[in-house]
Amino acid sequence: MKEDLKKILLLQDVDSHIDRVSAEIDEIPREKLIHERELESQKTDYEKEKKKLEETRESGRKYNADMEVNENRLAEFKTKLLEMKTNDAYRAMMEQIKYTENRINDLDSKIIENMYEEENGEKDLEEARKIWERNKKRSEKRQDILDGQLEVLKENIEELMAERKEIASEIGKRLLDKYEQLRTAGRGLVVVGLEKGTCGGCLTNIPPQTTVEISQGETYICPICGRFVIWKDDSSMAGAK
Ligand SMILES: [Zn+2]
Repeated sequence: MKEDLKKILLLQDVDSHIDRVSAEIDEIPREKLIHERELESQKTDYEKEKKKLEETRESGRKYNADMEVNENRLAEFKTKLLEMKTNDAYRAMMEQIKYTENRINDLDSKIIENMYEEENGEKDLEEARKIWERNKKRSEKRQDILDGQLEVLKENIEELMAERKEIASEIGKRLLDKYEQLRTAGRGLVVVGLEKGTCGGCLTNIPPQTTVEISQGETYICPICGRFVIWKDDSSMAGAK
């Protein structure tokens, strides 16, 4: 294999490595975003529970205030009852008392119900807070790990880029341009092995004479897919058998 092709193969290895590291770098903000969204949704859950509990407590305050009003009214009515001069007035006052007593009974059930609701609301809020806090801690730890990984990966990329630059500087311009062109076209590997007498990239048959030249290190570009076909350790000249 000619020196240049060896270098191209080396460059291809470095580029594959760069691609892998770049993909890992791209993955990091994506994972961070997932954590952020999860936290955001747990924060929303917590705030919903908080609002619900506040509303329950507000209802409780209203019921209790209402209860006080009705209890005072009942006491007042009972005092007045003793002062009633006629049967009609007495009956009318009794009606008022009955109505107020019913109202008090009704409020009593509501207050008890509201107390249960408040108790459950407190539990739900505490649960939502715990879930959110726990995840916040876990997420912060994970973010730190990811930040650390990102730093290492960026260093890796810098080293690989330097390595790449050095290798590229030792390759002839025409060959390098061709390589870059194929690489940008995104056809995967630019340099492939000769496989059983065919191009390892597109499996087109290669004439036996050419396979011999390839085995001797000649530069050969597949006329079909444009890749460099080289002799590798596992190459064979099936066509030349
Ligand atoms: Zn080919």
